[in-house]
Amino acid sequence: MGAGLSGLAAATILAKAGREVHVHDIRDDSGARFDGDFQALENWSMGVDFFDQLKDWGFDISQFKATEFKVVDLIHPDDEITQAKSSKVAYRIVERGTSSHTIDQGIKRQALSAGVKIHYKSRVKEEDCQIIACGPKGTSAVAYGEIFHTDHPNHIGFQLNDKLAPGAYSYLIIIDGIGLICTCLWRKQKKSDRFLNETIAWYDNHYPGLNRKPIKRVGGKGDFTINSNYKQDGRYYVGESGGLQDFMWGFGMRMAIWSGVLAAKDILGECDYEVEVRKQLMPYVKTSVANRWLMNRVGDGMFKRMCRSWMKNQDKRGDGLIWIGNLFKPTLLKRLLYRIVSPFMLVKDPKAMGRGVRRMPFRKALKRDVWQQSNQAEEISKQWNEVRRSGGKTSFNDDSESKPLSEN
Ligand SMILES: Cc1cc2nc3c(=O)[nH]c(=O)nc-3n(C[C@H](O)[C@H](O)[C@H](O)COP(=O)(O)OP(=O)(O)OC[C@H]3O[C@@H](n4cnc5c(N)ncnc54)[C@H](O)[C@@H]3O)c2cc1C
Repeated sequence: MGAGLSGLAAATILAKAGREVHVHDIRDDSGARFDGDFQALENWSMGVDFFDQLKDWGFDISQFKATEFKVVDLIHPDDEITQAKSSKVAYRIVERGTSSHTIDQGIKRQALSAGVKIHYKSRVKEEDCQIIACGPKGTSAVAYGEIFHTDHPNHIGFQLNDKLAPGAYSYLIIIDGIGLICTCLWRKQKKSDRFLNETIAWYDNHYPGLNRKPIKRVGGKGDFTINSNYKQDGRYYVGESGGLQDFMWGFGMRMAIWSGVLAAKDILGECDYEVEVRKQLMPYVKTSVANRWLMNRVGDGMFKRMCRSWMKNQDKRGDGLIWIGNLFKPTLLKRLLYRIVSPFMLVKDPKAMGRGVRRMPFRKALKRDVWQQSNQAEEISKQWNEVRRSGGKTSFNDDSESKPLSEN
């Protein structure tokens, strides 16, 4: 159920092993949940390079476009811009969507050539499926972005700023003449467009060579849950359907594919999914819960201290990946913190078919989130409205079981 990253990863491995595999998806294509947004495949949380893992699992990484980066502009909350660097690949930017170079289509091609049968626009019941890979269900956080033409060279910026991206971060990604400015909201907001407009205004001011020509606006939600069981009544819950996500910042693609692979291996009798998820993935998920709890308690003052500490560590160790890697890596302290804070942070989902799902709720806005857009942000809003009137689309997909197919 679900022809996204986790579902297709599982399907490909099963079909390659000679199983008959049918995948049902409510949308009309893989990647249709996204609309050309750029996403980062992080490469810092574990010792092993993610592309080596993909190759080991039998995936052909040349089937989709991935742009490697070893440097990122780290934008501090007081607008200072420094650079985090590494001699290793820090992350790879891939595109999500239905164009042929997207990761979704790249994995889909491999699934089809392995013999998987994909049924699009097909709604099936959870009880009738063996692998549940539907992506997010509830909402714990959202992200909004604008995609634009630009003549700026390839570039990445990562900004910690609690006003523009409450509780989270914003980013700028430019690949081959296409840019994305995105803001992530880890607190639920009224008039959420103002966060994107103000963030775009910020980047326009600090990256004067952008020459931004808006194309479309995109966005989506993230669902962060801890489950008592990842396998229940013969069904495997993978990717975001199993809450296998990074609670701190939402880097979910790696865990989505990884969990799909583990589910397939269990079906082939090569491992026990429940055991392997707990061993290989949950230590990272739990660390991210502890990190998220900490992030929920701080603002720009602590973000600034984090940026300073990151840069100090990079000067000392000669590699910007060490600090960020340590932030994501499980430690005894984070494990203890997880145990203490998770009962207060997560809310039971009564609709989870007895799997004991506890979700991180979308937090309420704080007083400091109430502010008026600047004049420049108002202008950006007007600019977007004009683009919209001449055909620019906004795609923000909200999967919900009660929605008819035509709305998805
Ligand atoms: C705006 C945004 C930016 C992000 N940026 C990053 C990033 O930079 N790095 C990163 O690692 N992660 C990022 N993520 C998270 C990442 O996209 C997800 O964690 C990942 O796609 C989850 O994979 P999945 O297989 O669980 O779901 P998906 O890949 O989303 O696939 C789910 C599939 O299930 C289908 N489906 C839904 N409901 C049903 C149903 N009832 N029946 C059948 N099919 C159904 C959908 O149509 C879809 O095809 C981002 C998410 C968003 C929203």
